[in-house]
Amino acid sequence: MWIVPEAVIGGLMTPEASFEAVEAVFAAMATGRAYNFPVIREAIGHADALYGFKSGFDRDSLALGLKSGGYWPGNMARGLTNHQSTVVLFDADTGRVSALVGGNLLTALRTAAASAVSIKHLARSDARVLGMIGAGHQSVFQMRAAVAQRGFEKVIGWNYHPEMLSRLADCAAELGLPFEAVDLDRLGAEADVIISITSSFDPILMEAQVTPGTHLACMGTDTKGKQEVEAMLLARASVFTDEVAQAVSIGEAQHAVAAGLIGAEDITQIGAVINGTHAGRRNADEITLFDGTGVGLQDLAVAARAVDLARERGVAIEVDF
Ligand code: NAD
Repeated sequence: MWIVPEAVIGGLMTPEASFEAVEAVFAAMATGRAYNFPVIREAIGHADALYGFKSGFDRDSLALGLKSGGYWPGNMARGLTNHQSTVVLFDADTGRVSALVGGNLLTALRTAAASAVSIKHLARSDARVLGMIGAGHQSVFQMRAAVAQRGFEKVIGWNYHPEMLSRLADCAAELGLPFEAVDLDRLGAEADVIISITSSFDPILMEAQVTPGTHLACMGTDTKGKQEVEAMLLARASVFTDEVAQAVSIGEAQHAVAAGLIGAEDITQIGAVINGTHAGRRNADEITLFDGTGVGLQDLAVAARAVDLARERGVAIEVDF
């Protein structure tokens, strides 16, 4: 088996490689060739930790395995990242373990790749202003992946904790784009594409604040109870997702579904747009909303790519197991 430690992932995986891996697996999910297994997530009653597994199988790429890990709130005080994850890949022909891969950076890259895939396939081609809601760890990965998809000329941002907005300003500067901190009315009025990536449990952006033609990628809501946008916005928008079962249970769509505003049948898998079986955006005034819940197959896809790159570059460690 191969070991690809967390420390080498940064030198191997690019946003582009992550994008390709995630776009391909979303397409495979829409044909039924790739599927996720039920997610396990438990409060383990120790160290306040949440721990679980996300797993699946892609019959096209033969990626089989799981991402295991979770959230340890006390880690920061120990100089460690609170979110911890590791990917284990198996040989689909034999069941033997094939690789152990650090999953922390990969999680940020695959999450950013998902919203970037949605921007590629759903945003207006003339999108120029990127709006960011959220300025935490994931936000800069989101921004870097998004700007590759359209000719963005400006980034505007809002965050619940305004003191964190310098992170977005620094990232925009690194990308050569002007940044402006704005209120939510301006963000909704001016942004052509909006990415939300927060840990909010209440709607931040309201339906009335969003203008026709906007594409939204709601990426923060990955748990029951979390919410980033007003449920009415999902009734007004054309809603897309990575996986419908997750969208209605733990994604942004959970609230609109619970309120009876939309049903599961109103939500389209993004893979159908990638495969061309769904047209995606129909006109320049349509509001499109991608509910990115985060699926195990994304983790397996980027981990498999990281193993290939690590082997090519001689940095994968081979272990007789
Ligand atoms: P982080 O802790 O670094 O940042 C949290 C962000 O949420 C900050 O912008 C913070 O200001 C904001 N926030 C905190 N409390 C808030 C509140 N009450 N109202 C509004 N905003 C609030 O987290 P991160 O690593 O950047 O992750 C952000 C979110 O993305 C988390 O909820 C995480 O679970 C989720 N996530 C989703 C996926 C996916 O695949 N969909 C993958 C990874 C992370």
